[in-house]
Amino acid sequence: MSDYSQKVSSSFNERMRLIRLRRKKENLRFGDEFRIIPRWLVILVGVLYVIALGIAIPVNLAQRHNPNGNFMFPYELQDHPVLASFALAGIVTVISLFMAVLIFLTAYVNRDAYRRGMNASLWTIVALVLLPETLIGGHLLYFLMREPMPYPCPACGNSVGARFNFCPNCKCNLHPSCPQCKREIAETDKYCPYCAFELGSTDSAPNLQEARNPSSAGN
Ligand SMILES: [Zn+2]
Ligand SMILES: [Zn+2]
Repeated sequence: MSDYSQKVSSSFNERMRLIRLRRKKENLRFGDEFRIIPRWLVILVGVLYVIALGIAIPVNLAQRHNPNGNFMFPYELQDHPVLASFALAGIVTVISLFMAVLIFLTAYVNRDAYRRGMNASLWTIVALVLLPETLIGGHLLYFLMREPMPYPCPACGNSVGARFNFCPNCKCNLHPSCPQCKREIAETDKYCPYCAFELGSTDSAPNLQEARNPSSAGN
């Protein structure tokens, strides 16, 4: 039982560590992120919107003098086809925007999961299955659970996975810890932020110095 709870808490700690890493290393901008949504999908959504407007307005106007037709607006708007068309265009636009946000979010989950080396089809299905009941519940779950992106090694620039402890190319320590208090520190720290141990002066952190100044590592 205690073995089980230990396992749960260590996997929880690992998850928290990855979330912190994501915050530290990833500086995502909306414009750049939007660009990973396939261009054809954005065009398709735009075309569907124009088609929806092109069908809704003429159909609605055609019904306006038909006593049995279902003209969408109150009787007063019946003699104002331009006003009625604008009102309908507004309604169609709001619905389309709502649908477009859901479609783009789902496409983003799919592309983003793929580039992070996660199971893209699985996460797309999760997002779609939770869509009818929770709207973006599946998407939010994905944003909480997603793996950090691979990032360049601070020493050699080789792309390294978020779960790596050492760079496979240059053996750089990717999660250096303070030699005195053993807590995790950043490659660029000069002093340990927890116990003020001077990090540059010690031989027990050779990878740290290498990370900071690769050219002088051989001296
Ligand atoms: Zn490296
Ligand atoms: Zn320390």
